[in-house]
This record gives sequence, structure tokens and C-alpha cells, in this order.
Amino acid sequence: MAMMNNLPSVARCDVNDCFYNRESNCHAPAINIGGEHPNCDTFIPTANHIGRMEQGMVGACHVHLCKWNTDLTCQASNIVVAHHNLHADCETFTPAK
Ligand code: SF4
Repeated sequence: MAMMNNLPSVARCDVNDCFYNRESNCHAPAINIGGEHPNCDTFIPTANHIGRMEQGMVGACHVHLCKWNTDLTCQASNIVVAHHNLHADCETFTPAK
């Protein structure tokens, strides 16, 4: 569900080796999704993890080919992030028609 500031939340993130991940949830203040491929640009692999427990949100998204994208901003109510090869991808990406 979209939060008061209208940014989509990260409903789940399975990328447990990311600094911002605790118990399969994202706790980055705002992530960026980028480029032609919907990868999470905020992913940073490390053995350490963030202490804060607030819900992660989607800041900017540069995937203009996604049906949820308007003006390089995600309009989905929330997204799911998961591993793709050795990086993290937005699994909610849906090609625009
Ligand atoms: S659902 Fe689409 S617009 Fe939203 S973050 Fe994922 S790729 Fe970007």
C-alpha cells in the first residue's frame, strides 16, 4: 500500500546479503531502480546490516519501459525485490504495452 508521502513501499526483499536488508525486508529510506534493466541501484552486499527498522520505499525509478512508471517515478502501490544473478531486481517490473 502506498504510504502518506505517496512513495511505493518495498513489500518484500529476498536479497539478504544487502546492507539495508533485515529479515527479508528493505529498510533503506528510499531505493533507486535503474536503467533499461530493473535492477536495484541501492543494493550493496556486505556482512553488516542496517540498524533502523523503518519500511523501505522506492525513490526514483529510471525504468521507463515499465507499465508502472510515469515521469521516472513508480506508481505501483508496492514492489517486491529479489535476487537476479548476483544483483537485485524489481520483480514487479511489467513491460509497458
Ligand atoms: S514496478 Fe516498474 S516502475 Fe515500479 S520500481 Fe519496479 S520497474 Fe520501476
